[in-house]
Amino acid sequence: MVIEYNGTVLRNEVAIKKQRTYKSQNRGVFMFRIDSERVVDASQTGGLARYINHSCAPNCVAEVVTFERGYKIIITSNRRIEKGEELCFDYQFDCVDGQHKIACHCGTADCRKRIN
Ligand SMILES: [Zn+2]
Repeated sequence: MVIEYNGTVLRNEVAIKKQRTYKSQNRGVFMFRIDSERVVDASQTGGLARYINHSCAPNCVAEVVTFERGYKIIITSNRRIEKGEELCFDYQFDCVDGQHKIACHCGTADCRKRIN
C-alpha cells in the first residue's frame, strides 16, 4: 500500500453539481468514481493521493475496498518504485468522443494518447 485516496463520498448528482461549481470558481477538480452511483470528492477535503497523475503504464493501481459498510480507495504499487520516481496509476476513465477527450501526456511507450 502506498496511500489512501481520501475525500467525501457523494451521490452522482451531487458530484456533478459540485464539479460545475468548482469549475465556475476556477478551482481544481479532484474526484474518483467508485461506481455508477458514488464519487469521492477530494477537491476540498482530500489528501495527497489526489495529486497522483494518470499514466498508461502506471507503477500503481487504485482499488476500491469495502470497509465497515463504506469504501476505501487504496493506491498500491504494482512493481518496485525507485527513489524519486513519480507515482501514477491508470485513471480508467470511460472512453468518450469529440471535444470531451482528454489528451494523455504520460510519455510512456504504451501511451494511448488519451485518458478517456
Ligand atoms: Zn499515456
